[in-house]
Amino acid sequence: MITKSQSAAEAPSCTPPDGASCWLCLEEGPDDSGAPLVRDCSCRGHSGFAHLQCLVQYAKSKTKDFAERGELTLSTMFVEKLFERCPNCKQEFQGDLYYEMTKAQLSFVEKEFKGANGWYIGTLTRRIHALDGGKEEDRIEGEEICAKMLSLIDEMKKNGDPQLDAFMLASVYHDIGRFNYDIGTNQRLERAKRYLEISRDVFVSLGGCDSDIAVAIEGNIANVEARLSGSNLPTKKESDLSAQRARYNCMMLRVTGQNDVRTTQVGVHLATALFEACHTLEALRLLEKLAGTSRRVHGSDHRVTADTAFLLKQFQARYVSIGNGLNYQALRYENDGKSCVIQGPVPRNIFEPRNVDDEKTFSVPTANIYFSLGSPVMLHGLKKAAHLNGEIGDVRGHCELTDRCVVHLEGKDLKPVKVKHENLRIVFDVADPKKESS
Ligand SMILES: [Zn+2]
Ligand SMILES: [Zn+2]
Repeated sequence: MITKSQSAAEAPSCTPPDGASCWLCLEEGPDDSGAPLVRDCSCRGHSGFAHLQCLVQYAKSKTKDFAERGELTLSTMFVEKLFERCPNCKQEFQGDLYYEMTKAQLSFVEKEFKGANGWYIGTLTRRIHALDGGKEEDRIEGEEICAKMLSLIDEMKKNGDPQLDAFMLASVYHDIGRFNYDIGTNQRLERAKRYLEISRDVFVSLGGCDSDIAVAIEGNIANVEARLSGSNLPTKKESDLSAQRARYNCMMLRVTGQNDVRTTQVGVHLATALFEACHTLEALRLLEKLAGTSRRVHGSDHRVTADTAFLLKQFQARYVSIGNGLNYQALRYENDGKSCVIQGPVPRNIFEPRNVDDEKTFSVPTANIYFSLGSPVMLHGLKKAAHLNGEIGDVRGHCELTDRCVVHLEGKDLKPVKVKHENLRIVFDVADPKKESS
């Protein structure tokens, strides 16, 4: 499934069309060293393609301009995002381009701003955000960065450096905790927990909206503890989900927050993982939120917006079977819910293309419908457990023996229930579960 969404995502912008040229040096095609034109931002059509080295040179000279005018402060460097943002469309670089630009920024600052520890720490923070603790090469670089940040903090404390405030301190501890969490071995998780706890305590002491950050870190600490104990998470899948939720929450906490395109990307991965684990309601709610943010912030042309819209369409379709071994898409209820209009047959893998010309639309008695795993459903018509009527949840299993669905309900304190098919209704619209069609 992920492969499909990624290929949908890659298509729009990254390959230069014939005749594309670098908007900085105006040369067509690869540069002298053979490095190709790159682009990974919101630029469209022929615009915005450049050589990596040209982008790096441009960012360096802009930074030097600020410095010569005496206007280079920590905030110009990191609010202007001279290395992190496309100067053309003003969107942050993504993927490999972000990775390369943060690397270039780090070596530039190491060379040109010796002794400016505040800048150095800020740059290290940017770099560690670009790394993936799960990859060997990134892990080694990240560990060096963690060690460097800690020794810089010590040095700044000793010198009474005014740039070292509590917020910077808490952020550094948070980044170190988050990175160790990414690596994920038990020893790293222990370390992650220690740093997250220090970070939380500092954010609490700052008060105001920084205490909200502390509350969210608290949630991440709980996730680390759950992964360490392994006991209160039933399966590997659940613990992976929990880790991915924590990662998404961490991204939300970053200075760039929920409007950062990388936050959306991590959110999309989380939504996909939730969907694959049959947490469809949670996946849908998250994805709807991400799709809205992406349209508003990145625009409807942005590849992340296209990606979320593509996935949302898949997630919103409801699939059922009717006992003939084939799959169908459920469209709506009829006759007070006594029958259901379905269309198909459809491929078993919902991401495969459908041959709509060969599909038929017809109505079947609701009692003959079997819900696919992950179907969002509403309980109804229960006599003994009438208080549960109207509750919604996901179908997470089928009990062959009793011919019932195992439904995990969304209500916080509700335990999973086994329910007959006739006591379930498909939820077509998560925002309005009572609506009978999509
Ligand atoms: Zn160029
Ligand atoms: Zn751009």
